[in-house]
Amino acid sequence: MDFDDDANLDLSQVEDARGGGGGFGGGPIAIGGGALGLIVTVVLALLGYNTLGNDSSSSPAPSSTAGLAQTCATSNAQRFDHVECRQVAVFDDLRDYWGTQGTQALGAQYTDPKLRFFTQAVNTACGQASSAVGPFYCPGDQRIYIDLGFYDELAQRFGAPGEFAQAYVLAHEFGHHIQYLTGFEGEIRKLQQQNPSKENQYSIALELQADCYAGVWTKNASGGAESLVKSVSQEDVKSAIQAAGAVGDDRIQEQSGGGVNPETWTHGSAAQREKWFTTGQSSGDPKSCNTLNAA
Ligand SMILES: [Zn+2]
Repeated sequence: MDFDDDANLDLSQVEDARGGGGGFGGGPIAIGGGALGLIVTVVLALLGYNTLGNDSSSSPAPSSTAGLAQTCATSNAQRFDHVECRQVAVFDDLRDYWGTQGTQALGAQYTDPKLRFFTQAVNTACGQASSAVGPFYCPGDQRIYIDLGFYDELAQRFGAPGEFAQAYVLAHEFGHHIQYLTGFEGEIRKLQQQNPSKENQYSIALELQADCYAGVWTKNASGGAESLVKSVSQEDVKSAIQAAGAVGDDRIQEQSGGGVNPETWTHGSAAQREKWFTTGQSSGDPKSCNTLNAA
């Protein structure tokens, strides 16, 4: 994967709440109003309110992109050696594709998600989460949450190294945002309530479509005028497919030493995840990602 060395990264939709520089002020899950604010936030989240909104007084932990602006400036010739700069470049490329052709193809109205880096734990409109859950998207506040430490785990524990494996993960989470915009996510939640016995099957359809959307972006990356990604190689595509397989439910179950039990799967097998990433990557068309009918 090659990036445009001369292009400025757009940090307007990025929040950096990592520990250390400009991170948490008062403990690991700092929120504006301290412990009380936390409880209020969680209760509101349960009621379905968007508690993170645009009101800065109710924002979670403080964040600043000053450090990112410096590390990822065009004047730093080594900026793409940093995972956070690569992730922002991929994020901007995803915004470029999905904000134009991608949502047009699906007939959906586009709005940007935000990308929030954190360490250890984070408070969200979906409740509190620790890094242990891995990268995730919260529809309630339309944010993608990533502890960059996950990528060490992806490389070492899941055996999926490579810069494009990291791009795939972010593209998958971005795919969940697109599902929120199209209403597919809401449709799945409704189906799950109506048919609780099929809850996991519906979850798998949701996850496989996000994999497919990651593939669609891969095909279209480097296509736009504002594209930060200049090229994607066959090697990159391979490492994304490898990563999709590595986080398949069967692989994770094998990896954690337990038995492999398809009944408990929520994301799909390695073979299914590879298949749907490939479907999107071959077609480059998000309309090819009809995982619900296929399931
Ligand atoms: Zn997912």
